[in-house]
Parts: sequence; structure tokens; C-alpha cells
Amino acid sequence: MAQIAVLSDLVANQIAAGEVVERPASAVKELVENAVDAGATEISVRVEGGGLALIEVQDNGMGIAPQEVELAFIRHATSKLRTLDDLRRLGSLGFRGEALPSIAAVSHLTLHTRMRDAEGGVGLVMEGGSVLSREPVGCPPGTRVTVTDLFFNTPARLKFVRSLQTESSHIVDVVAKAAAARPDIAFRAMVDGRTQWSTPGDGRLETVFAVAFGATAARTALKLEAVHADYSISGVLALPEFSRAQRTGLWFSVNGRPVRSQALQNGVVDGFAHAIPKGRYPLILLSLATDPSLVDVNVHPGKLEIRFSEERDVREFVSQAVADALQAGMRPAAVKMVSHEPNDSDGEGARAVAPPVVAQARPPSSSSIAPGAPARQEYRTASLDREASQIAFALAQPIDVFSSLPLVHETVETQPTAVETGSATDGATAELRGADTHPQMPVGIRAVAQVMQMYIVAQDADAVYLIDQHAAHERVLYERFRDEAAQRGWLKLDLLVPLTIEVPVREFGILNLAREQWIEFGLIVEPFGEQAFVVRSVPHIWEGLDIERLVKDVFADQVADQLGVDKEIGSTRAMRAWQDRLIMRSCKAAVKANQKLSLMEMDALLQSLSTLQNPFTCPHGRPTAIVLTRQQLEKEFKRSL
Ligand code: ADP
Ligand code: MG
Repeated sequence: MAQIAVLSDLVANQIAAGEVVERPASAVKELVENAVDAGATEISVRVEGGGLALIEVQDNGMGIAPQEVELAFIRHATSKLRTLDDLRRLGSLGFRGEALPSIAAVSHLTLHTRMRDAEGGVGLVMEGGSVLSREPVGCPPGTRVTVTDLFFNTPARLKFVRSLQTESSHIVDVVAKAAAARPDIAFRAMVDGRTQWSTPGDGRLETVFAVAFGATAARTALKLEAVHADYSISGVLALPEFSRAQRTGLWFSVNGRPVRSQALQNGVVDGFAHAIPKGRYPLILLSLATDPSLVDVNVHPGKLEIRFSEERDVREFVSQAVADALQAGMRPAAVKMVSHEPNDSDGEGARAVAPPVVAQARPPSSSSIAPGAPARQEYRTASLDREASQIAFALAQPIDVFSSLPLVHETVETQPTAVETGSATDGATAELRGADTHPQMPVGIRAVAQVMQMYIVAQDADAVYLIDQHAAHERVLYERFRDEAAQRGWLKLDLLVPLTIEVPVREFGILNLAREQWIEFGLIVEPFGEQAFVVRSVPHIWEGLDIERLVKDVFADQVADQLGVDKEIGSTRAMRAWQDRLIMRSCKAAVKANQKLSLMEMDALLQSLSTLQNPFTCPHGRPTAIVLTRQQLEKEFKRSL
């Protein structure tokens, strides 16, 4: 059994201390890490009142020796690290010896712990960091830490805590990420009496994937296994059609530790580059195993940001592995379904890649937690799903750019047919060059050609224009939808056939609370069981668009908002932001990349641009057009000299 020793000041000071218990979720993270480090195979987390009222983490790990129980609450007492050299080789998750004392200092804390072979356990009761009582207790092998009244003595800290719902979401997220990093451990998270996360610890990343992202995405998900001289990775990724507008579906772990990593993220995005549009992100669980000395885990103690000594290598390796997996999986004949049944033949390739199992101690599981069942439940929701093929490749489907643009066609006839090359001055063009005014699109502008199926080349008497057709169309739709919503309010569009959308258990609660606020925009969804919603009506501006994808985007936005850290906005502003986002999303769904346009269609688009308040930037602030004036051209060609 490891002895707990006090870190030398030198080492202690070499490790950036940082605040350990920033919010309830950080306390949960520390307690879960301790349980993992203790070799637990079952970890159960229970919280109430956003974690402020109660956090309880129970594990079946090795327990703490009776004579060391108090020592565990002394700052920089850790059994896991003696020197900086150890730090470099670090296999365990915790190593600062600050978590227990920090949590105990700001709460009422009870610890019950029993070593496997001990006859009984020890119960320790702490308040604000000092021991109130210690006594022998009967308890199962392992450790249970119960934290109540978190931040009771630090009111300033309480002020930083967001809504209880937000804190709960963060807590479930912590458990979910821990579970994804260690599929071999059974995890459960209960929030206010309801199970929000449950994985059976069957060692399969696919199982975790299904719980994290739902059975629909899991059914067609692809597996990824790759080995490199220094790294091996295994992962599960969803088909591109499940992409989201946020990064919330990128889950990474390195050597059994949930992490954020620029190299891994960029690698995944690169690997998907040809499959999903810019600005959207895939769903992927990725585990990487490597020599700990190649990873710097201390870049950001709280935020889990890590850096590899060879960032570029990792990025390229991951990108290649993801691209390969996609290529192999997207060939229709070879679509590899993730099987939910334990499958021996499947293990062969996988075994070559060492699963990132870090803890060596694997005590036999004496099940006081009984996981298993809920994961099954996940799969049973399969009957709710529409066939994946029905939604398949929504992104790849051509959308008629102008079907939602009746105004454009009306204006086509009024378009002058000849290019007015002779006119020397054009008021609109002149205004365009005035830097400070809102420039208008010159009225006499005509399309000349489309290049790269992406840009419109146009001209008027005094300038050449390169126009980004997507950005331009987005701008047109944005202003139209916005004006419509402002003038006529938000109308709702009832769906003839209600749409059922399955959501992961942990997202259900968030969405169920949020759905009230969507009603005024015409989006009406109702819970269907506890893992799905039925969509009854949608904002009218979604007419003709991919409604399923838009609803999923709204859901994903809401979940991301809930987990977002910098959302200090009042409710009116939040509403306006929402409204804006609905409009923007609608526009994006309407615009299609790589679409061939006729000259007439291009002229129509230019014409509608010219009616806009601000034709030269898209709603995201990117430019829609580049202008080369006659003067600029003359200067470039040295004609004016
Ligand atoms: P660290 O994890 O950085 O070592 P902590 O303050 O989190 O520091 O924990 C202090 C010590 O208490 C650990 O090193 C470990 O020996 C012991 N400990 C804490 N939680 C558990 C647990 N759930 N099971 C067994 N031992 C534990
Ligand atoms: Mg710890």
C-alpha cells in the first residue's frame, strides 16, 4: 500500500497551485479522480441542488488506511508523488494533494473508507477544514465522500455559481468525460434523484458513445484504431451528418485522463475537412495512449488543457486516422456498424492498441452500485429513431438556393439588360468607396461569370466585383427574415407529420427546461418519454429547409449555452441573441456551397443584394464582396503613371 507523504516545499512550489474548488463541478472532478486513482471499477456520483446542497462520490477502490485518513486532509499530502521526476512519469490523475483539504475547507464533509481486507471502516466528519469526529463505521470496501453545504463559509464563491441547473449540467459533464476516458469503469451520475449518466464499465468506447450521443448516432458510428511509433489511438466517430455547430461533441482523453488538446482537436477537424462544412464539428470519442513523458499535463491545471511535445505529429497522425476511418466507413458496402454485443473477433485489431488503462489495481467488483441496466435502456430507444438513412447526408443534399427567395425572381425583369460601360460616374459606386457610410450595392451591377462554383464575377461602369455567393445569399436571407420577424412577429409553421428527435439522457433535462422559451419563436416541442422530443411546429422562416437539422442545432445550442462559461447576459439580450441565432441558422441551412448558378440567377442575387442595408458583409461579419475599382486597376497596371 502506498504511503502518504508530505511533499517537499520545493516540489509544492514548482507546481502551480491554482484554485482547486472553483465550482461544484470542480469538486466532483477531484473526487472522481481520486476514486479512479484508487483503482475503483464502480464510481457513483450523486448531487443535489447543483452540488451545493450535496455531492456524494462513492467508489469501490482500495480505500484509505486508518492511520492515514487524517493525513489525506493535509495540504500537499499525497500518496502519488514525491519528486518532479515522478511528476513527469505521472500515471495517476491527482498529484497535488490539494483536493481533499481544499474541499473540506469550504464544506461539511464526511468520509467513510474501508480497505478491502479490513474488518471495518473509518468515518471522519469535518467542518470547514477541521475534524469534528472520527469513529469506526461499518461500510463496504472503498471510499465514500459526502460533501454538503459547499461554500457555506465562502459567500464570495457562492456568487460565482450559476443556476443550479447549469452547475448540475457541468457535474454530469465531468462524470461523462471521466467515463469516456475510462470505459472500463462503471460510472453513474444522479442529479436530484434522476440518473443522468450511466455506463456499465464494459470497456467498450462504443457503449460510452451511445450513452453520450444517443443510439441513433451510435448505430452508424465508425470505429477508429491506429498505431504510431509513439502513440496509439482508438475512437468512435459519428457519420458527418451528425455534425454540430459547436465543439461539444469532441471528447478526448489521453492515458485515461479527459483532456482538451489543440493538437487532437485540429487533427480531428482536419480529418473531417472534406466531409463536413467549415464551422461544424463532428461527434467523436478519441482515446490516445502514449508515454506520459511526451505529454505536458500541467499546462492548465483546472481546465485539463494538455500539450504534446510533438504537437504537429499528433495532429497529423490523428487527422490521417480520422480520414482513413471515414473513407473506409463511408464506402456504402463497407459501412461498419458499431456492434453493441461483446464481440471477440472485434478485439483482435483493438488489442494491438493498448487501451489507456492507467490504474493497475483492479479489485474484483463487489457491486453495490449495479450499473448495467440503464445502458441497455439506451439501446431500447432505438424504436423511436427514424432510420438513419432517412436523415442521411442532409448536408450533401442540394438545396435549391432560390426556392426560398421569391423576391429575387420578381426583380429579375426590372434588371437593365445592358452593361452601362459608358457612364462615367455612378452614385452608388462612389458611396461604396466611402469608408464610413453603409455602402450600397451599385444598381447597375451585372454578373459576368461564376468561378469555382463559388464566386460571382460582376462589373459595373467603374469597378469589378468578386462576390461570395454563399455569404451574399446568407446576407439576403438574414435581412429578409429579420425584417419579417420584426414586422410580422414570429409565425409558427405546424408540422403535418410531427418529428421525433431522440436526445441523450443527460441533455433531456436541459432541453425540457428550455423549451418554454422557444414557444414565442414558433418552435414547439414536447417531451416524448424521457429520451426524446416531438416537434409540433417550427419558426415559419424554416419553411422548405432541413427542419430536423435546424431543431437539432437549436438543441445543441441550448446544451452548449448551458455548459458555456461566459454567458453573462440578461434575459432580454439572451432572447435577442436567440432570435438572431435562429435567423442565422436558417440562413446557413438555406445556402449551399458549390452550386452552379446561371447568369440570370446571379443577377437576381446581385439585385436583391442591392436592396439591402448592408450588402457587403455577411451576418457573421465576413465580407460578401471584394471590389476592384477602376483606379485600383489602373494603379496596379501602372496605367495612371
Ligand atoms: P491527490 O489526489 O492529489 O493525491 P487529494 O487531496 O485528492 O490529493 O487526496 C489526498 C490523498 O488521499 C490521496 O493521495 C490518496 O492517498 C487519498 N485518497 C483520496 N481519495 C481517495 C479515495 N477515494 N480512495 C482512496 N484514497 C483516497
Ligand atoms: Mg486527488
